[in-house]
Amino acid sequence: MNCHKCKTEIPDGSKFCNICGSEMDVQGKTCPNTKCSKTGLSHEALFCPDCGAELTEEQSDDYDKKVILILIICVVIVTIAFGVAIFV
Ligand SMILES: [Zn+2]
Ligand SMILES: [Zn+2]
Repeated sequence: MNCHKCKTEIPDGSKFCNICGSEMDVQGKTCPNTKCSKTGLSHEALFCPDCGAELTEEQSDDYDKKVILILIICVVIVTIAFGVAIFV
């Protein structure tokens, strides 16, 4: 990670810059994996270093996936309903 103030490369997970002493953004990214929920991940990090979960900045992707999943479930239910109707 890089210090947001002096841009010096500092060890990942540092709470303070070892060059200028400014406090790092301790919030950082949070792992979306509910079993892991690791916090303070680097903003540049794309994957959680603990569990490998993809770190997404936006929630919209997740929302889209849920909408698609609901649509698929609806199609499956309708298909099953038609299948039952034909056999009855
Ligand atoms: Zn610094
Ligand atoms: Zn994780």
